[in-house]
Amino acid sequence: MGEDVKVGKTICFFCPPGCGIDVHVKDNKPIKVESMMESIVGPICIKAEVLPEWYETELKNRIFHPLKKVKFGWKRISWDEAFDIMIDKFSEIKEKYGPQALACYIGQVESFRDFGYAARRFFIGFGSDSYYSVDSTCYFAKVIAANVTYGAYAPPTLIGTKLITVWAANPTESVPFAADAMMLMKQQQGVKLVVIDPRRTLLAKAADMHLQIRPGTDGALALAVLNVMIEEDLYDKDFVEKYTIGFDKLAQHVKNYTPEKVQDITWIPADMIREYARLYATTKPATIFQGNCLDTVENGFQACRAICCMIALSGNLDARGGSTMMPFYIFSKVALETVPENERPKVKGAGAETWPLFYKYVGQPPMEGLIRAILEEKPYPIKALIVQAGNPVLSWVDSNRQKRAYEKLEFMVVHDLFMTETAELADLVLPACTTYEQQEIYQYVGRPLFALMNKVIEPPEECMPDWKLWWELAHRMGFGEKYLPWKDVDEMQNQILKDCNLRIPITVEDLKANPGGVFHRKREWKKYEREGFDTPSGKCELYSEQLKEAGLDPLPTYTEPSESPLSSPQLFKKFPLILITGKRSLYFMHSMHKKTPTLRAKDPEPMVEINTETARKLGISSGDMVIVETQRGSVLMKAAVTADIHPMVISVPHDWGGLANQNLLTGGSYDPAWGGMPARGLLCRVRKADPAQA
Ligand code: SF4
Repeated sequence: MGEDVKVGKTICFFCPPGCGIDVHVKDNKPIKVESMMESIVGPICIKAEVLPEWYETELKNRIFHPLKKVKFGWKRISWDEAFDIMIDKFSEIKEKYGPQALACYIGQVESFRDFGYAARRFFIGFGSDSYYSVDSTCYFAKVIAANVTYGAYAPPTLIGTKLITVWAANPTESVPFAADAMMLMKQQQGVKLVVIDPRRTLLAKAADMHLQIRPGTDGALALAVLNVMIEEDLYDKDFVEKYTIGFDKLAQHVKNYTPEKVQDITWIPADMIREYARLYATTKPATIFQGNCLDTVENGFQACRAICCMIALSGNLDARGGSTMMPFYIFSKVALETVPENERPKVKGAGAETWPLFYKYVGQPPMEGLIRAILEEKPYPIKALIVQAGNPVLSWVDSNRQKRAYEKLEFMVVHDLFMTETAELADLVLPACTTYEQQEIYQYVGRPLFALMNKVIEPPEECMPDWKLWWELAHRMGFGEKYLPWKDVDEMQNQILKDCNLRIPITVEDLKANPGGVFHRKREWKKYEREGFDTPSGKCELYSEQLKEAGLDPLPTYTEPSESPLSSPQLFKKFPLILITGKRSLYFMHSMHKKTPTLRAKDPEPMVEINTETARKLGISSGDMVIVETQRGSVLMKAAVTADIHPMVISVPHDWGGLANQNLLTGGSYDPAWGGMPARGLLCRVRKADPAQA
């Protein structure tokens, strides 16, 4: 290695597992990336390996300076000017409509990265609770359901398991080393594998069982599994007796969900449901790897509740090789809860009253509250918005409605790397740093582990770290000393670590000395035997009074999606197929990497998956341009004809823009429990495009 090459140790944030990486840097440019020896997470995949190319190609077109929208485009301005404009506008809006009329949308999961802590502190100082984030997109149906049922999130533990159920997930594309581990465990240790998915993924092909489910009916399947477990006496009686409440009510309730009845709902034969239920209940320990497809349907919360009950009744809760209960810090929630109640904003954020569970467990209202407050001005109007590190026009359902909302705002700011579809609608666009150009705390999910994402590259030009934007704004507006008083990022992060009240205290200095990360508690199982459960009753709540009080079903239940062959037969005549969206690609992180040549060459264009038989009936061949339509809109892309998808299901890929934007198709009814968005299980139709359109 030449003397002018430095090696920086950090965490890859191109997908959630957070592999440790060594970034070789010369002249402030990354030239090579390798797995970090100190990290227990990896090995790295191609997305991290091509970091130098990402910098050389895609990032060449990033935003380098603050930009102000003018009549015919954008004008470069200074940061001072940008802050002056923001402060004038925010003050004016506060004066006219109240502080809650200013909102933000944070586009990064707030339990992985820490800058939501600074953003939330800014909003508390400003007096607004209109704080929204990507947390309401996915993942949190599972987190809230687990908290309601047993007081903590309990992610799957592969080590020591005998049976892996991959439910509504495709880790081969989304968490590649987890999928590799599953295959190895199956081949070398005889671990059984079950996949529940309408698509025949690589793991499904290798699995012992593949349950090809109708999208949006996972809750019915889980209830049928509970039916078999209880009817056939295949549950953990000792656990039920000592640690649960509501078993009798649950047992009575699931009598309605026989495999024979549920086969008509889910399309999975009754015999197969029984076989899976017996396998799951009798193979110990067994773990369930749950994907985000469970969250992004309108009945996702109750499906996740039913799966929580499966985990509890099978004796796999907080068990090695089952699901491990683990504290999980949402940094913006930590920021809110460490400010005295009388200093918090007076008006609760729009959406908090409609979805109180989301507010209770995530510490903010869900995103749909923001859109309604802009469009309908209820319960109060939102007139200004700051979007940071996110592109909701592309990533949130019903893009046209999103656009209408942002166009109605009086003032909008976007802080991002790129001129995204959302940034194009803004009044100001501000240059941001990549995760390699700023220091952040990284929290692992499934392990009680924190690591430091180190700054390994100096920010170019005028790019500003995410936390610094809030710090500058607060100090220039006069409340920085009180709410964001730190002199540098180390001081802020030491405050965050202290506020998390970790069982084994950690400092930033510890994280710097241990680049692979530092554990903040020992991994232990069956903690409930000593500590009970952090629920209102102190027990595992199969029946939940708090759900009843929130106007929700206290038992896990199944509601047919409002668009479906069963619930809307007239609509089904016009749209006779079922749409799933959000299919991940190993080569991209959401909309990123699509302009990095090596990665784009691996997955060159958006392709809609159509079953071979369905395509034959529609006269469609692989490579034909097709139009996929729902009652909300249409997309245009090439067909990928395959036997690896259910004949009634159409799969549209994730986060391509323009005419291939999946969210031109999505929208509808939101999950009543947590405000989750309807992105899957919608009715659609497909036709070959006219040559002129193609
Ligand atoms: S993108 Fe690849 S290297 Fe980066 S965290 Fe994900 S799996 Fe690891």
